[in-house]
Amino acid sequence: MPIDATLPYDETNIFARILRGEIPNKTVYEDEHVLAFHDIAPQAPEHILVIPKGAYVSWDDFSARAGDAEIAAFVRAVGKIARDAGHVAPGYRLLANTGHDAGQEVPHLHVHIFAGRPLGPMLAR
Ligand code: 5GP
Repeated sequence: MPIDATLPYDETNIFARILRGEIPNKTVYEDEHVLAFHDIAPQAPEHILVIPKGAYVSWDDFSARAGDAEIAAFVRAVGKIARDAGHVAPGYRLLANTGHDAGQEVPHLHVHIFAGRPLGPMLAR
């Protein structure tokens, strides 16, 4: 079920549980502010989720409330993960669903990195 991105942060969401170590994940990158791991149901040969460690519901919440150090770390991590995995030359796609109409299901900000094949049109028609 898509979420309402204006709701307060829900500490029981699945990514909060991953951050607390209650649920396993296949980590590809971690630093003070950021965790990245493989999506459980990949929609491309490479499908990585990058999340801030802070409690932010969505891109909207993060861009409004996060500190400069968190934002810089997050943006740099997304770029580094894709670069280190060799996705710059062939190309990759970033996606951050925000709220109901975008189909956001997990109410903790995540950026999807898709790569590994031509990714087709930007949106379903
Ligand atoms: P959204 O639709 O919110 O943009 O994307 C949520 C993503 O989280 C989906 O691609 C889904 O497969 C992934 N996901 C949901 N639960 C888990 C989980 O427990 N572990 C991992 N690694 N990914 C998950």
